[in-house]
Amino acid sequence: MKKRYLMTPGPTMVPPEVLLNMAQSMIHHRAPDFTPIFRRVSENLKYVFQTENPVVIFASSGTGAMEASIINTLSAGDKAIAVEGGKFGQRWCDLCSAYKVNVVKLSIDWSKSITPEEIEKALKENPDTKAVFITLCETSSGALTDIKAIGEVVKKTDAILVVDAISGLGAEEFYTDKWNVDITVTGSQKALMLPPGLAFASINKKAEALMEKSTLPKYYFSIKKSLKNLKDDTTPYTPAVSLLIGLDKSLEMIKEEGIENIWARHKKLANAIRAGIKTIGLELYPKNPSNVVTTVKVPEGIDGGKIIKILRDKYGITIAGGQDHLKGKIFRIATLGYADTFDVTTIISALELTLAELGHKLDVGEGTKAAIKALL
Ligand SMILES: *Cc1c(COP(=O)(O)O)cnc(C)c1O
Repeated sequence: MKKRYLMTPGPTMVPPEVLLNMAQSMIHHRAPDFTPIFRRVSENLKYVFQTENPVVIFASSGTGAMEASIINTLSAGDKAIAVEGGKFGQRWCDLCSAYKVNVVKLSIDWSKSITPEEIEKALKENPDTKAVFITLCETSSGALTDIKAIGEVVKKTDAILVVDAISGLGAEEFYTDKWNVDITVTGSQKALMLPPGLAFASINKKAEALMEKSTLPKYYFSIKKSLKNLKDDTTPYTPAVSLLIGLDKSLEMIKEEGIENIWARHKKLANAIRAGIKTIGLELYPKNPSNVVTTVKVPEGIDGGKIIKILRDKYGITIAGGQDHLKGKIFRIATLGYADTFDVTTIISALELTLAELGHKLDVGEGTKAAIKALL
């Protein structure tokens, strides 16, 4: 027997209440039973997004909503700025290139976060920019971006601000409307505590105006079509009914806890993990770490792959490694979504045992003690 813990920055653990809610006989998406569920979900999503504007839903992974935000607002040859500070920033660049959008890449070291000044400078140098694509939490590095300050910069221009909040929404403090974000995208398998398979995008008036000029091809991912159907509490095509029934439950749980309390919980857990990590003698990778995922440098002389393998095979804990040039150099621990106090002690204790097994010098138990004290 091995008890299993999923501590990756997506997919994340799904609460039993949500799983049970999804285990129902199929209902028809055009029948009266489904309408109130869809209406409630659409309303409650606005709360998580902190927006008064509509949120459209697609049956895809999060990347589908990223793609939708490009093809619905831009035309081939349009200029866009994208921040390339990790795997997911790169995805913005690749998506733009795939659709022949003229993308200005702001490449930064993966351990860093882009500054509002850098965005301001790029916008001044490229006054014909139609959109700025950015990542709230760059999950590949664990770095957090100051979207609030960047929103202040972009709102003064004609460009729209599009934020990939796929891992951050529902974990980090984030206000779509108050922070002047024109499109926020997210997915189901991170802080929303659901299996993968749903993508979401909020659209404000500035983004809708740009949509009128967009000529990039689109069909399934047409936001206009989704918005039209949303007015009648439906989707243009068959929605992922079971996932939406699960979402109905997870949004109820989120509302019950309160979004500010959820942000505070993620902060508290990440703080405790960081305290444990530092006491073990390890270093954090990003300069401005998010509360979504804690990215840790693999200590000198230790095989990063072995840390992940022992945690998984011996202790049943799945964490994430590094990608591309960070493979073997970092590991990433997520306390995201359905995560609580003792997930912290579980992972720090297991990490201490693992590192001791691999010959890293440490006083086993001290990291866990520091983490518990941080939780006090
Ligand atoms: C997980 C993640 C994505 C990718 O989403 P998919 O659901 O795999 O398409 C994109 N951006 C960020 C920041 C993520 O964390």
